[in-house]
Amino acid sequence: ALPTVVLVGRPNVGKSTLFNRLTQSRDALVADVPGLTRDRRYGQGRLGPRPYLVVDTAGFDPTSKEGITREMARQAEQAIREADVVLFLVDGRAGLTAHDRDIADYLRRLGRPVRLVVNKTEGMRQVMATAEFHALGLGEPMAISAAHGEGVRQMIAEVLADF
Ligand code: GDP
Ligand code: MG
Repeated sequence: ALPTVVLVGRPNVGKSTLFNRLTQSRDALVADVPGLTRDRRYGQGRLGPRPYLVVDTAGFDPTSKEGITREMARQAEQAIREADVVLFLVDGRAGLTAHDRDIADYLRRLGRPVRLVVNKTEGMRQVMATAEFHALGLGEPMAISAAHGEGVRQMIAEVLADF
């Protein structure tokens, strides 16, 4: 089976933008509307000759108990359980939020391997962009710009090196 990389994080951090860049697909829906991805979406990425599976999830609230958000959380949880590695995206421009902390705690409980990815860091110094996210206790954050492609290849190479 291909290594499976699952993208999670609160709405609007750039999961679908990263998914599109990794899979080079144009069909994944990307928009400013938070939580637009209603389902899991699967695509294939490639690092040199090596294919891997990428799963995009809706931005979810793990504490939600009802309605569409509850269903989105269920979809995301299913994807996480299938993950070889979870890429937890945060927004380097918005900074660390309470919602990020909730998701970090939730991911720790699920027990899958997690790598922390700080997106939207174009034009920022890497040490500055990642500094505050060490507080999430998920190891060394990797800085990328999904929109501009910066750091993406190096990040995925580092992630896949474990497999
Ligand atoms: P999702 O809700 O996590 O899937 O986030 P989206 O991929 O839909 O992106 C949300 C917004 O962030 C969109 O307006 C994107 O254009 C923007 N965005 C995504 N990646 C970057 C990035 O690397 N830099 C900047 N500045 N904006 C980005
Ligand atoms: Mg999305």
